[in-house]
Amino acid sequence: MADLLRRSSISAIIGNTVELSHIDRLRGRCPRHPDPTHSLYVEERLSIFHCFGCGLGGDTIRWIELFHQLNHDQAVEWLARRATDQSDEPGS
Ligand SMILES: [Zn+2]
Repeated sequence: MADLLRRSSISAIIGNTVELSHIDRLRGRCPRHPDPTHSLYVEERLSIFHCFGCGLGGDTIRWIELFHQLNHDQAVEWLARRATDQSDEPGS
């Protein structure tokens, strides 16, 4: 599980939903509310996100649960499938 999260770039997954820009850090507009100030911070190294506007935050799985409307198990499966699709290493 930890390995799965490590292999999956949170910014790529969040980037499917929200346009991210490097301001002082990697930031985007929170999809939960009007957000002209880019309150959503993404910490790639820790695989977490946090919105300083509404307090929404969590890890990659949490993001998938929230914005792909999946439960926890489905979110893990979704992430595993995505990681597999992107892997070019034979036999891994
Ligand atoms: Zn927010």
